[in-house]
Amino acid sequence: MLIHLNDVLSCEDKAAVRTADIGFESFDLELGSFPIVKKEPFELTLTNLGGEKLKIEGSIKLTAAVPCDRCLEEVKIPFALAVSREVDMKQTAEGRIADLDETDFIDGYSLDTDKLVYSEILMNWPMKTLCREDCRGICRKCGANLNRGSCSCDTQELDPRMAVIAEIFKNSNLEEV
Ligand SMILES: [Zn+2]
Ligand SMILES: [Zn+2]
Repeated sequence: MLIHLNDVLSCEDKAAVRTADIGFESFDLELGSFPIVKKEPFELTLTNLGGEKLKIEGSIKLTAAVPCDRCLEEVKIPFALAVSREVDMKQTAEGRIADLDETDFIDGYSLDTDKLVYSEILMNWPMKTLCREDCRGICRKCGANLNRGSCSCDTQELDPRMAVIAEIFKNSNLEEV
């Protein structure tokens, strides 16, 4: 959704409140696409700070479904994003990119709310996602979810020295037969 900023920017000290929706159904990253399972409209307060500077404030709530790092079960991650950005409207888009500023959500005199929400989610994306602290993960042999009970795989890693002895016994048994 685009919010036009002209009227806020045309009067000094003017503040305006705008309501916006999250206009996308999933959060797409290079490592995957994560569904937004819950979202609600949010308000943004736009304040003209003078000198073509604008302050954008608001709080955005949404929930994304992210697979657990260990067992891949879906985990619902709630986000409470506190937005507080200052934008210098005098600066051109090229200038912002050169400054490595992340305000690509400003296009001319419009604010692209989806791009703003996207960049806020990105900054708050969890480094680690676990369904629970002690998630047991999945069996590397059969893929069973070990949180639901253990599988029948023999996952005991044999000590290499024991493996040599086991091999000798196996061979000697064969000779006896
Ligand atoms: Zn898990
Ligand atoms: Zn298994």
